[in-house]
Amino acid sequence: MGDKSYLEWPFFEARHTALERELDAWAAEHVRDAHGSDTDAQCRALVRALGEAGWLRHAVGGTAYGGAQDAIDTRAICLIRETLARHNGLADFAFAMQGLGSGAVSLFGSEANKQAYLARVAKGEAIAAFALSEPQAGSDVAAMQCAAVRDGDAYILDGEKTWISNGGIADFYVVFARTGEQPGARGISAFIVDQDAPGFEIAERINVIAPHPLARLKFSGCRIPAGQRLGEAGQGFKVAMATLDVFRTSVAAASLGFARRALDEALAHAQGRKMFGQTLADFQLTQAKLAQMATGVDASALLTYRAAWQRDQGRKVTREAAMAKMTATETAQQVIDAAVQMFGGMGVVSEHPVERLYREIRALRIYEGATEVQQLIIARELLREG
Ligand SMILES: Cc1cc2nc3c(=O)[nH]c(=O)nc-3n(C[C@H](O)[C@H](O)[C@H](O)COP(=O)(O)OP(=O)(O)OC[C@H]3O[C@@H](n4cnc5c(N)ncnc54)[C@H](O)[C@@H]3O)c2cc1C
Repeated sequence: MGDKSYLEWPFFEARHTALERELDAWAAEHVRDAHGSDTDAQCRALVRALGEAGWLRHAVGGTAYGGAQDAIDTRAICLIRETLARHNGLADFAFAMQGLGSGAVSLFGSEANKQAYLARVAKGEAIAAFALSEPQAGSDVAAMQCAAVRDGDAYILDGEKTWISNGGIADFYVVFARTGEQPGARGISAFIVDQDAPGFEIAERINVIAPHPLARLKFSGCRIPAGQRLGEAGQGFKVAMATLDVFRTSVAAASLGFARRALDEALAHAQGRKMFGQTLADFQLTQAKLAQMATGVDASALLTYRAAWQRDQGRKVTREAAMAKMTATETAQQVIDAAVQMFGGMGVVSEHPVERLYREIRALRIYEGATEVQQLIIARELLREG
């Protein structure tokens, strides 16, 4: 990638710039555009490779548990996701899920929980998943029905989760269930469920537009030791939102990586493609498109790293993360679509880099809060402040 001047922005420290340079070189050598037909096997291999190379240390918080830093470093996570997404969408997915799946353990786990899970996540020896959504509770998370009932020193889980990334290959799942302390969002708790817990099963594997492991989960009298609860009983919604405050911004960063790759591909193509006695890039219509794409990329980057920096300062980031996620995902879709158009027929050939980006970006506008949900969050925060 040509322009890396954004790394000189005041949001970053020297270690961030060094991290990006090192990862960019590693990703170019080890994961660039590597795709295969067995997505599960590929994801497992990517988690192992990212773990062995030390990148997953940034996905967990706490040096005592294998983390790169004592606290989660949002800027590092965002730079890693952006860089991996630019090289290989599945590598970004593998990194992101280790972070999202273990984020609640880093933020709210007991000493025993952290000892049991985080080091294995950081080494790529255990695969993590985050199970919040249900068939009847997607955007409306508080409508969840999956229930956990206390039974002595254990909880019994019954219900379903769906759209769970890494479902089918994860070693453990952070599962949110209704414990009923109060109605709605105040009566939910979070639990770590091991993949071999009795009463837990993968009910269905789901295929999506850009393949990655995804499943519907079923809990039938699934017994979990009470020590596997993350945070206080009834505080699960807070656990979910604190985790999403980190990873929602990182979805923006991944979108940014996809958009940068599309812009790079479009620039190279426009300058090389001969037509009407000149190149595609010589036409002002093309230049207008490129200008729009580059400006959208920079605007997304500014919002993304503003949110990441602000969270790393320990400040509230709900509005900023929502602005970053909404803008970066929607802009990336437009940038990628413009790149596909510039490639003409080549742009829709299966597995061409821009065709793959076109599929890869779509779900990011839906998960971890769809664009409409981000709009509502931003407006709610504005009105509250007003
Ligand atoms: C590829 C993929 C991976 C995923 N991975 C995970 C995962 O790992 N863990 C997990 O827990 N979940 C995961 N999800 C689930 C994801 O978070 C949900 O799909 C998302 O929250 C939307 O929920 P829903 O699909 O039920 O859609 P719905 O909630 O039914 O929403 C449908 C539409 O309604 C719109 N909408 C919502 N509220 C409003 C409103 N107030 N006004 C107007 N429009 C509105 C939405 O924007 C959306 O366009 C994943 C989803 C996908 C597609």
